[in-house]
Amino acid sequence: MRVCPRCGRETPVVIRGLCPRCFAEVYGVARVPGEVRVEVCRYCGSVRLGGRWVETDATFEGVLDAVVGWLSTRLQPVEPLVGVEVLGWDALTRPNWSTRILLRLRGRTGEGVEVEAEAPVTVRLKPSICPRCKTRVSGEYAVLVQVRGSRPGLRRLVEEAAERAGIIGDVVEVSETRDGVNAYLTHRGAASRLISALKRLAPLRVSGPYREYVGVTSRGRRRTRDTYVARLE
Ligand SMILES: [Zn+2]
Ligand SMILES: [Zn+2]
Repeated sequence: MRVCPRCGRETPVVIRGLCPRCFAEVYGVARVPGEVRVEVCRYCGSVRLGGRWVETDATFEGVLDAVVGWLSTRLQPVEPLVGVEVLGWDALTRPNWSTRILLRLRGRTGEGVEVEAEAPVTVRLKPSICPRCKTRVSGEYAVLVQVRGSRPGLRRLVEEAAERAGIIGDVVEVSETRDGVNAYLTHRGAASRLISALKRLAPLRVSGPYREYVGVTSRGRRRTRDTYVARLE
């Protein structure tokens, strides 16, 4: 038996000169990032982890579970531990777009001594769209507003215009392309409101609508799609 210099207790095992409990308190058992940012599909709740989209039950708890599961495969143990696993997690704040969670961890040494510790992580979720939903919703838009111009922050400008116009719910997607930003909208009224709001933010030259026929609706009417081009001056 040896005596831990930190807590004064007798201990059969010493890790870095400390008893296992003091070792965990001082060093932790894994290198845990203070914050993790991940994209979540706002249509289906899938979460993008390490470049792959993983399905969830579309609740914040389910998304956090998936994030913790992914983290557990990537955690590196603190030396001289050789392995670490996640035993579970608790939410320290209400699960939401930004949630503070506490990971319960168990590490082990090469000799098989187990050491437990807790580590807080903030998980920030960014609303996004997964490729599958993108394919689905891109078939649903009625109007495309192509915003063109070389100024930086163009996407932010379009998003701000959409907010000011009160049409966030009518936006299928805002995406950046090589030439500018495309805003896909569910109906024509939203397009004119977006264009008016954009005009108030920046000088603009608008052409269109250019109309194309894209099939037939379920009621047998011809479906059309309009495209406007808005050039920043
Ligand atoms: Zn101790
Ligand atoms: Zn999705």
